[in-house]
Amino acid sequence: MTSPTATAPSPGTTTQHRRVLLAAPRGYCAGVDRAVVAVEKALEHYGAPVYVRKEIVHNKHVVATLSERGAVFVDDTDEVPEGARVVFSAHGVSPAVREAATARRLETIDATCPLVTKVHREAVRFARDDFDILLIGHTGHEEVEGTAGEAPEHIQVVNSPDDVDQVTVRDPDKVIWISQTTLSVDETMETVRRLREKFPTLQDPPSDDICYATQNRQVAVKKLAPEADLVIVVGSANSSNSVRLVEVALEAGARASHRIDRAAEIDSAWLDGVTTVGVTSGASVPEILVQDVLAYLAERGYGDVEEVRTATEDLMFSLPRELRADLEGAESAGRPVRGGRRALGLNPS
Ligand code: SF4
Repeated sequence: MTSPTATAPSPGTTTQHRRVLLAAPRGYCAGVDRAVVAVEKALEHYGAPVYVRKEIVHNKHVVATLSERGAVFVDDTDEVPEGARVVFSAHGVSPAVREAATARRLETIDATCPLVTKVHREAVRFARDDFDILLIGHTGHEEVEGTAGEAPEHIQVVNSPDDVDQVTVRDPDKVIWISQTTLSVDETMETVRRLREKFPTLQDPPSDDICYATQNRQVAVKKLAPEADLVIVVGSANSSNSVRLVEVALEAGARASHRIDRAAEIDSAWLDGVTTVGVTSGASVPEILVQDVLAYLAERGYGDVEEVRTATEDLMFSLPRELRADLEGAESAGRPVRGGRRALGLNPS
């Protein structure tokens, strides 16, 4: 596709044919879509304020837009008034957080991504079988805190391949690894390789913990990176999968790569001498932010946009059970609930 807003080259840039390679898939995944829509529907159905523990998804624009509509983001449940309603974010929570919410008589809506819940279940099961569980992930990330909280006495976090030397276990023949859903596939496999050198009978999880969306976005950026002088990744600094996309782009051969929250953060100097710009976005990023980047680039002569598609995604998750029950109750009582994402300007396409 070619943008009608393409203009003549600006001074200081190459006169070679300039173009954009646009990764697909990019942007919203099924878990983020579900979590954001859950907050929107909760706002419409129950009215503001709706409390949300932590950022519902790691994206500044989404959080700011929902805040304007009446969502109140808090760090923990003790900031939520007793008896009020709170949404748990897509990254999941530990059992201790659920207990704290119950103690405050909070009405909870659990927007934990089902693919994160799957990892929680694995942790519980392997702990019950008395394994030492090595959770590959980033200390301090909400998802890792939630998963580790399922079985703290059995789980230790392994941040990177270099962490492996420090790992000790009770029984080297009873060890299994699991992982955060949003890691670099290649780096995780390197961590596993080193763990297996140390613990040869290390067991694998029954299926991939790094989710389909993380993997698909990495495969797409890997495909375009070797041809790109610059890869722009749209995503927030605390978005693990977005930060990984920058690393993956560089490892796959991009000459430079930068993460930005929005088009206004692009430094025009990044475009000096650049012919081909790769563009992608993390799994929590609304498409509107990518379109703003494309418009910015088109104004600077990069109006020729070629999509590089490596997969097609059609996965969708149904809304959290508690919310669905209330919405269905309202509908059967003749009070239909409107769709929300469009109204917020967060529609991904
Ligand atoms: S990135 Fe993966 S695990 Fe995280 S919300 Fe999206 S689908 Fe779920």
